[in-house]
Amino acid sequence: MPPAPQPSAAPRAERPGELAQGADRFRQPRREDCPWCGSTRLNIRLRAPGPARHRPGAFGVDECNDCAHAFQNPRFTAEGLAFHHHDFHDGRAGLDSLAERLLAAHGSARRHRAAARAMLPFPEPESWLDVGTGQGHFPQAAKEVHPYTSFDGLDPTRRVEKARAAGRVEEAHRGHLTDPAILTRLSSRYDVVSMFHHLEHTSDPRAELRAALTVLRPGGHLLIEVPDPGCAFGTLLGRWWVSYGRPCHLHLMPLSNLLAELEALGCTIVTSDRREPHTPYDIAGSLALALDRVLPAPDAARRAVPSTVFRRRLRTALTGAAAPLVATAAALDHALAPLLRRTRFSNAYRIIARSAPSPA
Ligand SMILES: [Zn+2]
Repeated sequence: MPPAPQPSAAPRAERPGELAQGADRFRQPRREDCPWCGSTRLNIRLRAPGPARHRPGAFGVDECNDCAHAFQNPRFTAEGLAFHHHDFHDGRAGLDSLAERLLAAHGSARRHRAAARAMLPFPEPESWLDVGTGQGHFPQAAKEVHPYTSFDGLDPTRRVEKARAAGRVEEAHRGHLTDPAILTRLSSRYDVVSMFHHLEHTSDPRAELRAALTVLRPGGHLLIEVPDPGCAFGTLLGRWWVSYGRPCHLHLMPLSNLLAELEALGCTIVTSDRREPHTPYDIAGSLALALDRVLPAPDAARRAVPSTVFRRRLRTALTGAAAPLVATAAALDHALAPLLRRTRFSNAYRIIARSAPSPA
């Protein structure tokens, strides 16, 4: 199967009213088979409107009956991916919704340090590449845990260059890990490659894993965290589950599938963990997504119908009024987390795998 298109790494020009042209041109034809195992026994897992009213077009998630892989279907075109990635990460509309603000707030330094500590039992890494690093907040926090490690960052957006300018990463690599030029440049350079909530955004997670192993030194460690499609919140909250609500989640891989794939690539599974990576935001996230549906649309530069001053002010007022409600839900998420992370309500998992040692 040829590699699927990735979103462009180049900045896009603003095109006001872009969505007025319709959302269908952002979608590929619907798939009739599972992108993970090829089975044609697919179940509809979710059909729902877009996560916010200013981003029209339904989102669908199908699940494979044979391997339980869940995936966005129909999937975005390269242009659609670029649009949404831009919207979330780079654009002025980036953090205009309650849900996006809430999710962005969860990349806290404390969580990053906890993830970095997962590598403490292993030999101290000299070099570490964080894939999908964004503004480099993970390397910045991880440096406190691994002060003698050199952290580099890779990201398709210009945020990685800001991360280097701010001293959060030593080297900034802009692009995709699967780009041949990047693979050649970084081949066998790293003791650790980390991917935090990255694989689910990629068009071809298998290609991404192969690329990660290419840039690892023999015997190096791969540290992965992804949403767990088996999380009971997915069933309970349906379209309001945050892991569905983010339009850029293309693949949701069951733990067993990812473990089997890594072993097939010659890796040894060192640990897998469903407890610590649980992020307490499901209840507040679902509430924020629901509020985003009912509040007047935000001032997104490219939405189909430009917002009026009155609607913008109304949204600001209503968002302020709803904030205590979301804060209460967030407090509930945190209060329940110690219990829920031990159950199937845990919403993410972590894998540490060691690549094959070099031949003697
Ligand atoms: Zn399958």
